[in-house]
Amino acid sequence: MRAVRFNAVGRLALEEVGRPEPGPGEVLVRVEAAGICGTDRHIFAGEFSAKPPVTLGHEFCGIVEALGDSVSGLSLGDRITVDPNIACGRCAMCRAGRVNLCESLVAIGIHRDGGFADYAVVPQGQAFRLPENLDPLHGAFCEPLACCIHGVDMAAIKPGQSVVVLGGGVIGMLVVQLAKLAGADRVALSTRQAAKRRLAEELGATDTIDPSAGNVIAAISGASGLLPGGADVVIECAGVPETVSQAPWLARRGGTVVILGVLAPDVRVEISPFDVLLRELKILGSFVNPFTQGRSAELISSGAVTVETLISRRVRLSEAAGIIAAPAPSGEIRAIVVPD
Ligand code: NAP
Ligand code: ZN
Repeated sequence: MRAVRFNAVGRLALEEVGRPEPGPGEVLVRVEAAGICGTDRHIFAGEFSAKPPVTLGHEFCGIVEALGDSVSGLSLGDRITVDPNIACGRCAMCRAGRVNLCESLVAIGIHRDGGFADYAVVPQGQAFRLPENLDPLHGAFCEPLACCIHGVDMAAIKPGQSVVVLGGGVIGMLVVQLAKLAGADRVALSTRQAAKRRLAEELGATDTIDPSAGNVIAAISGASGLLPGGADVVIECAGVPETVSQAPWLARRGGTVVILGVLAPDVRVEISPFDVLLRELKILGSFVNPFTQGRSAELISSGAVTVETLISRRVRLSEAAGIIAAPAPSGEIRAIVVPD
């Protein structure tokens, strides 16, 4: 079978490899669709640690084609989405129920072989069933949506509250929709590209702003801004220093800031501890998808979250390495690999 192998920083290639065999408790999945994520580009560039040689691809869905010993609850032919993050179940964090903080978290498509391949083997506990009639390209959004659900859970949005989302990539577009589903009344999104602002409005953003057009803080939380005094919740989804440093100033007194965007480990941004104290801001980090993959699969299956318009292009397995090695084209939301 074919697999996109990450062999070292800057070295990624489509290779012919043996088809994996599912061990006890594992299933063999014929990959139908796998999303190319910014993390794949960071791994290629050496900015996110992986375990080469390894097949990349952590956002995928496919069909169960073989069952290892002692697998139950899954059948041949089932369409599944994969939760890539495997927690050890034994460390202090796992035992406290905080599996995303597991001290030895192993991720499929990062530390063990993933979904940019004809087939992948996954532990059955990582598989979540999807409907037979679901478009598999939609199934490829379950993993990023599950990360967004965790972020929105952390934000604890209540009906009628106001939310600001910073960054109109796939994460921002999913967070906008989840904020609405959670009951937010006003959802304002800041992103530079006009096409992304239009798309966010189609997906439920009540207001959009162009951060390059002026002072974002004045435009949102200023006296004559969109949300004078700031929003109940601010969710940072751009992963750049500028938006992280804006975020606290966009929150109202007692408000909550959730950081979903990933910045390089050495990045530092300034905050005002005095302001955080005086206005009792909560600043929270949200990491991956603890116990949210099942809810994500439900929302994708029911169509409650729209993903069709987030698919920018459908590409072949043979094109994947080249696409990951290049910067994302301007305006692209998600490219999905379809092995065929
Ligand atoms: P993305 O496609 O790069 O989207 C980020 C968007 O932010 C860009 O498309 C860009 O759109 C916008 N942006 C850039 N600078 C901005 C600024 N100054 N103000 C407002 N918007 C700005 O990435 P993504 O796939 O949506 O992911 C977003 C972040 O979440 C990434 O850092 C990713 O690594 C992270 N992530 C985190 C988790 C987690 O578990 N916490 C999971 C998945 C992804 P414009 O060009 O329109 O401005
Ligand atoms: Zn990803």
